[in-house]
Amino acid sequence: MTEPISLSQSHPLADHPPSKMAFVNRALAERREAQQWRSLQPLTPVDAVQVRKNDRLLLNFSANDYLGLSKQPALIEAAQRYTAQYGTGATASRLVAGTYPIHQQLEEKLAIACGREAALLFNTGFQANSSVLAALLDRQSLVLGDRLIHNSLLQGILASRARLIRYRHNDLTHLESALKQAMTQSYSRILIVTETVFSMDGDRSDVSALVQLAQQYNAILYLDDAHAVGVLGPEGMGLAAQQAGVDVVVGTFGKAFGAFGAFVTCSAQLREYLINCCPGLIYTTALPPAVIGAIDAALNLMPQLEADRQRLSQGADWLRKQLQSLGYGTGASSTHIIPLMIGDEEKTLQLSQQLEDAGILAIAIRPPTVAKGASRLRLTLSSHHRPQHLNQLVQAIGAFAEAIA
Ligand SMILES: *Cc1c(COP(=O)(O)O)cnc(C)c1O
Repeated sequence: MTEPISLSQSHPLADHPPSKMAFVNRALAERREAQQWRSLQPLTPVDAVQVRKNDRLLLNFSANDYLGLSKQPALIEAAQRYTAQYGTGATASRLVAGTYPIHQQLEEKLAIACGREAALLFNTGFQANSSVLAALLDRQSLVLGDRLIHNSLLQGILASRARLIRYRHNDLTHLESALKQAMTQSYSRILIVTETVFSMDGDRSDVSALVQLAQQYNAILYLDDAHAVGVLGPEGMGLAAQQAGVDVVVGTFGKAFGAFGAFVTCSAQLREYLINCCPGLIYTTALPPAVIGAIDAALNLMPQLEADRQRLSQGADWLRKQLQSLGYGTGASSTHIIPLMIGDEEKTLQLSQQLEDAGILAIAIRPPTVAKGASRLRLTLSSHHRPQHLNQLVQAIGAFAEAIA
């Protein structure tokens, strides 16, 4: 009789299984040690400014739903109507069988609304940045990127293997000296990439000055307008809208548009190039009808939301003043994104927790998302925050300031 073979006994490596996943353990341990552990926190949306977390109602100062459109009846109705009419999925990629008339009509409307020659939908801003930049650059290209650009932009640059030089944040003198230097080299092309409103700092870049530099040095200008679209610029269509001389603009529908998805505006010819040469457009299923419906409804509303945008901007001005009078820095913020600068990671987490105890959701942003020693609460406002909401936030932060003084 033979013993039944037990793998655990007979396998020579049973006691010492080759740990092919050891890197996972190591990476997690490193994150824990560096106090950089992150975890997902489920929140149930309640209305435009409130969420429920573990049965507690929290006032939300961490969402990008700047106009409260994700809960807007017109968007919900359009998403439902488009689903009923066209189904839940687009069934294929854009080039195969996934371009419906609703995709094309939306692109034409977007181009007009932004005052640009053409527009092309993408599935997310991350996908647009990471694949469009890779399609525009090659190994012989030079990219001049602001020190603080979003990770999705970096991914596209890294994938292209272009040379990247990062200029000091919003320092156009530094950018120009890098451009001058580049003139003595033989790059295939030079591309300037930056954001119009910086996602973690809420400050802006000088679009007209960037246009001038790009023209003077014959560089391609690529602007990420993610946090301005819906909120700033002509009829809320972003700081790059109606701007001749910007070659590529990326906007997202996941933020102020209250939906999902993204778009690129560019020349009609560049749109054709992306349709033919950008894998992030070619090899992915087209946006579903529900999303197209919601975006279309948001786009229709945009010109009518001037009062909301005003309220948002006035609320931000008021909040910055209050925070500054409590002794906090708010960086160079001039928008609805307000960093409450703390510096120390642990203190930032502590304040975030303290605010949560007081019924306020304000997420701590810390390295590696921002530089070491630059930890902050990233406060984002909605046009649906009422004065009493802002007051509640200031009171709670004030109580903490006293507690640590
Ligand atoms: C959010 C964001 C993106 C990504 O957009 P998604 O549509 O959410 O993928 C890109 N760039 C910037 C600056 C962002 O803040």
